[in-house]
Amino acid sequence: MEIVKQPRVTLIARPQFLEPPHLPVQWKGDASDGERIAEFAGRLCYMSQHNPAGRSTAEYLQNILKQGHGSVFEHSTYVMLIEGISRSCSHELVRHRAGWGFSQLSQRYVDESHAAFVMPPAIMGDAALEEEWTRQVQEAQAAYVAAVERLMARYQWVEDKVHRRKMAREAARSVLPNATEVKIVVSANVRAWRTMLELRLGEGAELEIRRMAVACLRVLQQEAPALFADFEIYQSAEGGYAGRVGFHKV
Ligand SMILES: Cc1cc2nc3c(=O)[nH]c(=O)nc-3n(C[C@H](O)[C@H](O)[C@H](O)COP(=O)(O)OP(=O)(O)OC[C@H]3O[C@@H](n4cnc5c(N)ncnc54)[C@H](O)[C@@H]3O)c2cc1C
Repeated sequence: MEIVKQPRVTLIARPQFLEPPHLPVQWKGDASDGERIAEFAGRLCYMSQHNPAGRSTAEYLQNILKQGHGSVFEHSTYVMLIEGISRSCSHELVRHRAGWGFSQLSQRYVDESHAAFVMPPAIMGDAALEEEWTRQVQEAQAAYVAAVERLMARYQWVEDKVHRRKMAREAARSVLPNATEVKIVVSANVRAWRTMLELRLGEGAELEIRRMAVACLRVLQQEAPALFADFEIYQSAEGGYAGRVGFHKV
């Protein structure tokens, strides 16, 4: 049985900016396409493509963040593949609605007999707790395998084998724990990422989704620093990392 102790976050798509030749901006400094799209959108509002204040993209976007002019951040979307998170963590993640899209592994179709399980951060590091948790998860997985077998026998009369398997798996999954690993593709625009990150990096957030949020933030800060530079990651007193936002947007 595979036990997962860290999420894996992979950026799988980023914005591409196609600058209209008839409205060129006097750019200053390097920037990614996602950052340039936000600057372009912001400058369009005041037709300030000639960059009167001589700001770099990072300076311009920081000013927009300060003013809370969040709608210009809705034009740049980043797509991530998130693996190694539990079903309970993904359930919290999919509560974020505005600006989000999700495609999650289906437990109705996918055989979970060899699923991995995500150990909660709060359990990690205590040998007795880890052992007890592992035993309980193993028992749940065994119960799932047994339930699938019996349900397949019960629905033998269903001729379509794919449909029969789905009927068995969709019922048997009810005994799988919240810790079952899921894989999920998530897309969100920058405004939506920032809202989720602010909520889920906080010390009030559950440890696992907080750990996932830290992993996402690290990817986004590397990809588009000017859009996420105001987030600060710090070591939380109760363990693990947490984060806070510099420019809160209501
Ligand atoms: C620490 C913590 C504890 C939590 N505990 C619980 C819990 O016990 N039970 C539970 O059910 N949930 C819980 N949640 C989830 C929480 O209630 C939200 O569902 C989740 O954080 C998504 O927030 P949101 O709705 O602001 O985000 P999004 O859906 O991303 O929306 C972003 C913003 O868009 C606006 N918006 C979005 N949709 C609408 C709409 N339909 N109408 C008007 N405005 C809208 C709002 O301003 C909203 O803040 C918890 C979240 C956190 C961070």
